[in-house]
Amino acid sequence: MTRSDPETHRGLKPKLKLYDSLTRAVQPFEPLGSGPVGIYSCGPTVYARQHLGNLRPYVFADLLRRTLHSAGFPLRHVVNITDVGHLTSDADHGADKVELAAARAHTPALVITQHFTELFQADLRRVGVLAPEVWAKASEHVPEQLAMILQLEARGFTYRTEDGIYFDTSRAPHYGELSGLTASAAHGRLNERSAKRHAADFALWKFSPATGPKRQLEWPSPWGTGFPGWHIECSAMASRYLGSQFEIHTGGVDHVAVHHSNEIVQAEHALGVRPWVRYWMHGAWLTMEGAKIAKSAGLAPNLDDLLAIGISPAVFRYYLMTAHYRSPLDLNLEALRAADVALERLSRFVRHHTPTAALPPTGAAALIWQRQFYDALYDDLDAPRALAVLWCILADASLPESERALLIAELGGVLGLIWKQPDLSDQAVTPEIRRLVAEREAARRAREFARADALRAELSEHGFTVEDRPSGPLVTRTRTVTP
Ligand SMILES: [Zn+2]
Repeated sequence: MTRSDPETHRGLKPKLKLYDSLTRAVQPFEPLGSGPVGIYSCGPTVYARQHLGNLRPYVFADLLRRTLHSAGFPLRHVVNITDVGHLTSDADHGADKVELAAARAHTPALVITQHFTELFQADLRRVGVLAPEVWAKASEHVPEQLAMILQLEARGFTYRTEDGIYFDTSRAPHYGELSGLTASAAHGRLNERSAKRHAADFALWKFSPATGPKRQLEWPSPWGTGFPGWHIECSAMASRYLGSQFEIHTGGVDHVAVHHSNEIVQAEHALGVRPWVRYWMHGAWLTMEGAKIAKSAGLAPNLDDLLAIGISPAVFRYYLMTAHYRSPLDLNLEALRAADVALERLSRFVRHHTPTAALPPTGAAALIWQRQFYDALYDDLDAPRALAVLWCILADASLPESERALLIAELGGVLGLIWKQPDLSDQAVTPEIRRLVAEREAARRAREFARADALRAELSEHGFTVEDRPSGPLVTRTRTVTP
């Protein structure tokens, strides 16, 4: 069945198409039923601050959300928080990242995970990412994970070793279909320390170590006290909130070979469904000098590091929109500065020319621009092409400025660009700037124009312009001034 808004049928919006990693093709988007479209996005492991590279997959998922919403689909989006079970080695050995961080900081694990969860959620809000309908923490869904492991055990897909319960990938003929790699190519050879039967097998439940410090996060289970393996949480929580089959699963491209391949086999064999997920979507990396940004490499800037050099979170989002989500993007200061100038120019145009009360324009030229915008966006979320349409609208002298401003604001809103750009409420505006603005306004009212002009020049040196509007002075940041 087809559910979409009337604009699709009036020819304003084309059919939405999305790239599916499993079939390796762009496919028309069809929901499974008449309920909300289910989206599951793999969330972070909350043992440290998320860096800029970590944020890119969520901006991509947010663009997907906003695009589906613009096409008239109700949504149910679930993002998980991994607060237990993610080991330092993805091959099921090493320390639990959260327990390790807690031990190093001499802090309870739950205090660590709560702190970094809140920081992560605040960072997402700053880059304009809308909150999902459900935040799901692994530690709060252990019963669901145990239930899924029991289902797998009942169907004969598990075996026990001395350190845990494992999934037997040799019994799953479709294993690796997402990555296109055979189990041995994706996972290499068996590690000598491992008691696994095959390299691709993975832990569903790990036993707490018999010796050494006692774990902070552990639970009783039918097999012994321990904690869930990293992969089971996503399959268990997705089916808890989205049912045994749902529409879209997103994540970073680094999840394809192992994490998502494991999610698929355990969910399909526990739930007895195929396919578990209709569309698999993966976002490419944000890189620095061509390499994946990684905390372990030492240089992993976050949003506050950007703000310190005058780049706002809104500009970072605009910058991410300049690349297609499936293309790697290299973090580049020159390009960030260019994004800052570009966003400010678009925002200023919108601020300056938006009439106080008006309906979106419906003339033929406006409709053609809207159609071009949605042609780009609905073609597997081609944000760079959609962004280019905004610039074409800005330059279209055949349309009144007020119509152009309304169009840019409406369509830019679909991309989640944040139009309320720095004004007097922005952090970059110091008390000094506020004083200069107030003094200039006083001089202007007193008709001391030479003094008012001198103060305007001084503001300009600080990177701010003043426009005299009927409602009072409008202060805009024109460029970033590096301290
Ligand atoms: Zn996951």
